[in-house]
Amino acid sequence: MIELKSFVNSVWTAGRTAGELLIDPTLGHTLASASSDGVDIGSGLQHSRLIGVPALQALTYADRADKLSTIAAVLTANREDYLRISLENSGATAADASIDIDGSIFTLKYYARLGAKLGAHRYLHEGIAESLSKDGSFQTQHFMRPLKGVAVLINAFNFPAWGLWEKAAAALLSGMPVFAKPATATAWLTYRMVQDVVAANILPPGALSLLCGSARELPDHATSSDIISFTGSTETALHIRGNTSVLRHATRVNIEADSLNCTLLGPDAHPGTNEFELFVREVVREMTIKAGQKCTAIRRVIVPAAFLKDVADAICEKLDKVMVGDPRHAEVRMGPLVNRSQQRQALHGIAALKTEARVLFGDGTHFIPRDADPVVGAFVQPTLLVCDDAATARRVHEVEVFGPVATLLAYSDEQQAFDLARRGGGSLVASVFSANPDFSGRATLDLSDSNGRVLCVSEAVGQTQTGHGNVMPMCLHGGPGRAGGGQELGGLRALAFYHHRFALQSSSKGLEEFAVQSANYAI
Ligand code: NAP
Repeated sequence: MIELKSFVNSVWTAGRTAGELLIDPTLGHTLASASSDGVDIGSGLQHSRLIGVPALQALTYADRADKLSTIAAVLTANREDYLRISLENSGATAADASIDIDGSIFTLKYYARLGAKLGAHRYLHEGIAESLSKDGSFQTQHFMRPLKGVAVLINAFNFPAWGLWEKAAAALLSGMPVFAKPATATAWLTYRMVQDVVAANILPPGALSLLCGSARELPDHATSSDIISFTGSTETALHIRGNTSVLRHATRVNIEADSLNCTLLGPDAHPGTNEFELFVREVVREMTIKAGQKCTAIRRVIVPAAFLKDVADAICEKLDKVMVGDPRHAEVRMGPLVNRSQQRQALHGIAALKTEARVLFGDGTHFIPRDADPVVGAFVQPTLLVCDDAATARRVHEVEVFGPVATLLAYSDEQQAFDLARRGGGSLVASVFSANPDFSGRATLDLSDSNGRVLCVSEAVGQTQTGHGNVMPMCLHGGPGRAGGGQELGGLRALAFYHHRFALQSSSKGLEEFAVQSANYAI
């Protein structure tokens, strides 16, 4: 059994007690243990502030971009090991693991390219100078400089690789040291990646730390120069937001929480159209990729009442062909959930949905996973429900089942479709499948204030669109309301969170001289 250590104060430290066990969710074997007991979090963070910040911020954006490229190369070189760890610890198929691992490498490379364009500068300017005097001698302009603290990255279990690197890419490029806290259940992959990056000696001391095991007091150490970027449940987010130290120091917090994402089928997309086919394919893909354990996955499927039966039949037909079981089996397309606790929570969530919805497919009846023991493995059968009274129902809009589960909701007119979408209370993403640009435009306008991202799909982009749940680093990731109100990625926009914006008021000459040494934050 592997003992996951923490890399804090630039040394590897084992926890004092046995800690939590990491289990193979397919076979039930114990793989590793993780304990943070005795790890000095406070001094580790201070080490990063005192040693990591000056070392990283002595470098330019281009230097740090170069380091992101090298990290991506190290991860690429060890990819096969990561796929195996992902299979064992997360029960991931090769395709599922690729989303996490190759998604990390893609995101790091993307930020390396963006950073190279910022050149040999150490701070950014925004917009143009504006005169504050009649003769123009006294002017103002806005600048952004990196915070002199630590980026504390607390992540969920479902993306042990991408969850770290999508945040770390922007933090490191900005010049902030990273203090990573992966979810314990799947921390092995994060641990192994950080081990490889540390061994490759890419970053200066104090620039990358890792805490394996529980981290309940981590937010207590936050200062005004640090940031906390959290991905996980609404309950933990509340706890972090309400932390006394976080409140006292006005520490910046970014939250990515749960989300009742929806997809919308346009009234024009009747059975037989390409948009109908694309829609059905996308729903099935979203339900089954990573066994539905994606924060962006489709949870609510909103369709014209007239097409409800056709949509339901088409989705059920495709779900019936999805082989669920041991991801070591070549034909298996969907593995287990990440552990038995998540399985219990998912089944509990399905039971809550069933008080308002009927099961059309799944729910575990006569379900036997391929080459796996259902008593040992954390399997949940793909489950499609239909809610007959979507407008008055409550749970279907509020209960996020973090598994292969979606609910069909019928609408009678356009406004009702948009109203149902809004009942999610703020989501990461909504998608619209329609060949009618007027409908897609109206849907976009109506859905855009309650979603971080809107994906419009017609036949024209059927083969090129990047997917409802796929988070591209060029696009903003985060949503309002119950999705947490956070914003990550979105190209250079991501850097703003790790920088402090200030207005410089100075003589036009002084301002010009200061500006000439900065890179343009042109988003
Ligand atoms: P979680 O229980 O909230 O845990 C998330 C992270 O917070 C873990 O690293 C956990 O560590 C840590 N943590 C727990 N309590 C803490 C505390 N008091 N102080 C500091 N850290 C603490 O969530 P989860 O079960 O891992 O993730 C599932 C949820 O995440 C789902 O609801 C899903 O919707 C959401 N999610 C959202 C996104 C997004 O981008 N919006 C992405 C993925 C998942 P331990 O593991 O050691 O407890």
